[in-house]
Amino acid sequence: MKLSKRHLKTLREAPKEAELVSHQLLIRANLVRKVAAGIYEFMPLGYRSLRKVENIVREELDRIGDQEILMPGPNPAELWKESGRWYAYGPELWRIKDRNGRDFCLGPTHEETVTDIARNEFSSYRELPQTLYQIQWKYRDEARPRYGLLRSREFLMSDGYSFDRDEAGMDVSYMNEYGAYERIFTRCGLDYRIVEADNGPIGGSRSHEFSALSNVGESELAHCPECGYAATLERAECVDDEPVQEEMEELKSVYTPGTKTIEDVCNYLHMDVKKSIKALMFVTYDDELNPAEYVCAFVRGDREVNMIKLVNALGIPEHYIEFANEDEMGATTGCVGGFTGPVGLQNCKIVVDSELVGTVNMCAGANKEDHHMTGVCYGRDYKGDIVTDIKVLKEGERCPKCGKPIIEHSRGIEVGQIFKLGTKYSESMKTFYKDENGNDCVYQMGCYGIGITRTLQAIIEQHNDEDGIIWPISVAPYHVMITVINPQDETQMNLADKIEEELEKAGVEVLCDDRDERPGVKFKDADLLGLPIRITVGKKAGEGVVEYKLRREGEMTLKSAEDATKDAI
Ligand code: ATP
Ligand code: MG
Ligand code: MG
Ligand code: MG
Repeated sequence: MKLSKRHLKTLREAPKEAELVSHQLLIRANLVRKVAAGIYEFMPLGYRSLRKVENIVREELDRIGDQEILMPGPNPAELWKESGRWYAYGPELWRIKDRNGRDFCLGPTHEETVTDIARNEFSSYRELPQTLYQIQWKYRDEARPRYGLLRSREFLMSDGYSFDRDEAGMDVSYMNEYGAYERIFTRCGLDYRIVEADNGPIGGSRSHEFSALSNVGESELAHCPECGYAATLERAECVDDEPVQEEMEELKSVYTPGTKTIEDVCNYLHMDVKKSIKALMFVTYDDELNPAEYVCAFVRGDREVNMIKLVNALGIPEHYIEFANEDEMGATTGCVGGFTGPVGLQNCKIVVDSELVGTVNMCAGANKEDHHMTGVCYGRDYKGDIVTDIKVLKEGERCPKCGKPIIEHSRGIEVGQIFKLGTKYSESMKTFYKDENGNDCVYQMGCYGIGITRTLQAIIEQHNDEDGIIWPISVAPYHVMITVINPQDETQMNLADKIEEELEKAGVEVLCDDRDERPGVKFKDADLLGLPIRITVGKKAGEGVVEYKLRREGEMTLKSAEDATKDAI
């Protein structure tokens, strides 16, 4: 493709409002143009890259058997009233009226519309599971559209919806999407993290966010270096819905104070007491809230979260519990790490790898220096209330999984999110299938979204240098840039044509800069546009020699035209 015949208007400077590098590059490289706040048009090179991201998404979703459909932009208010979201969504929902005054909204997501499809199209358990998806423009009247395509009011989204008979089926559909999303973001060249997320207004029981790591991202992430737990900060701070009530009941029945040992409990949790390093102490109370039994153990591994559940099940508030490692044990006043709270202890056994190594008397407080009190006694020194000089860690500063007190914070750009919806939409919209006995049953649904335009910009945010974009080959608008130093020179032009022809025959996408511009301008544009491979045809064309360079590496080498062509394929 000859650049002299294409439109390209690169800019030296980006408009002031473009704060982020990726936003500046999108505009300077002439990939997009702003039309109104949060509304963009895609220019030829930008649209090529956007379609590449779109096709990666399509290929991976088709590969797992999802079926592509297309739903409308304008959706009748009636559907949204059925689910209740017409009232709950707020001003982000872009509401419009037709000429007869009927209410519609421009779809910000399509749970209602797709549930209506299921209601009319599917009927029997024999047809299940089904997963439908679309790649379509979405509308959200964001309070603060900004950062270019990262937070726009019109954006391209891939949204998928699964319909299953039961929760087990929904779990399988969910994990299929999870895997496809991993492949999609890897193919896009993103450095991303998968974190637990809040379901938010979409609803449901479980959710993961796919977040491209970036300091400019709006998503705040918490990550535990100890056990690998990762969540949005929102989610890490909100562990209220865990443990699940039923699980708590079950655990309660296993651990009856005074009747079970820590080994019993560990066995139940499939935890090897011997391989344990974490300290945990259980304290149970008598009716008067006096500590009645103390068991301290070291536990290791990834089951700590269950320990927290267990302690919850025993009715001990979570902020009374702290996990500690061996080094911290006994650091102050001979106290066991492992318990924070207003408890006076006597003869508390310390068990290490099932061995009794000592007893502890009379201490209370956090597992931190200067936060302990000694010689305190329930009833005499306090009653029920938390003693005020104990530092209680705020939720989110402590890992909800392993309990380690310090959790690392980072930022990311939310590029995708998947949800287990359960029956929220199928129930509110009375959407049933018939089971083997002819009974009406509600579907278990999941929904899955990728911001395609946002992903495109996240890729640029992660792949650039001071000269411009450095496209991963999978989403580059073209693979190779051939720069012809002097297009008036027939030898140079002929060699460039030959290389271009060979490459295109092999399926390599080539942009040939044959414009009548100074070489400096062409090189600057080549850096800015960031095509992965650059071949420069200049004075040595007569000897059949060209310059070959990868945009990412910056090192130029001289090669024969044949070698350069071979290397670019
Ligand atoms: P955010 O937290 O950034 O507002 P969201 O959680 O509201 O996003 P979802 O409802 O989960 O977004 O939508 C699925 C995907 O659509 C998001 O993961 C994101 O990639 C994309 N997306 C959402 N809002 C926008 C927007 N205003 N502009 C561009 N992409 C968006
Ligand atoms: Mg949002
Ligand atoms: Mg979000
Ligand atoms: Mg989201």
